[in-house]
Amino acid sequence: MGKKVGLFGGTFNPIHFGHLRGAEEVREAFELEEIIFIPASIPPHKVSEKIAEARYRLEMVRLAISGNPFFTLSDIEIRRPGTSYSIDTIRYFKENYLWNLYFILGSDAFEEIETWREYQTLFTLCDFIVMVRPGLEYNSFTFPLPTSLRDHFRPGGDNGRWVHSSGHSLFLKEITFLDISSTKIRENIAHGRSVRYLLPPQVESYIKECGLYRKLGEEV
Ligand code: ATP
Repeated sequence: MGKKVGLFGGTFNPIHFGHLRGAEEVREAFELEEIIFIPASIPPHKVSEKIAEARYRLEMVRLAISGNPFFTLSDIEIRRPGTSYSIDTIRYFKENYLWNLYFILGSDAFEEIETWREYQTLFTLCDFIVMVRPGLEYNSFTFPLPTSLRDHFRPGGDNGRWVHSSGHSLFLKEITFLDISSTKIRENIAHGRSVRYLLPPQVESYIKECGLYRKLGEEV
């Protein structure tokens, strides 16, 4: 069995405790040996949104994960020219490493999966872990799989697991879903409000130092 590695993509504009706690709970529950945080270059779903330059987002993730030996950072999407697509990232890791890959995403991102490039193929490449809010009574039967995916999945034996026709699994993992979003953090900063306890202090200091997000919706 190869090393169990989670791939956690996102805009991370900026990274916050919601991302970090979710990743920590997934790592522990699935006994992952590493989770690689992968900031996106130009996210296909957020083209109209102003996003802090990649170098800032990379640095914020680096600061946020420092001290956690299981968390690492990859600039693969930042280095790849053009828009980032998860399918390319998963293929890259599959081609270059003999790892068991788990792609990690939140339920809000999963709800838009049909807009992702080659989304049907994604599930033939690796396992998926969808982080869900507690208390929504998600289980293998009620989880709203998009209609276009339904035919390709059957409920797995365990609660919270679907099995794809390729043999790969889609897991639903309830996490302590902290109701924090990068959008809210950017809004708070733009309005001069506190963001303390929403993200790691070292990231907060870095944002201040670089003057990020002071004006809402403007490129920094
Ligand atoms: P924005 O507010 O700018 O849309 P975001 O806070 O949703 O940003 P992203 O970088 O877009 O952050 O999210 C990266 C991944 O983390 C996605 O899969 C998303 O579903 C997940 N995620 C976002 N916020 C949380 C949270 N509070 N808890 C757990 N997962 C989250």
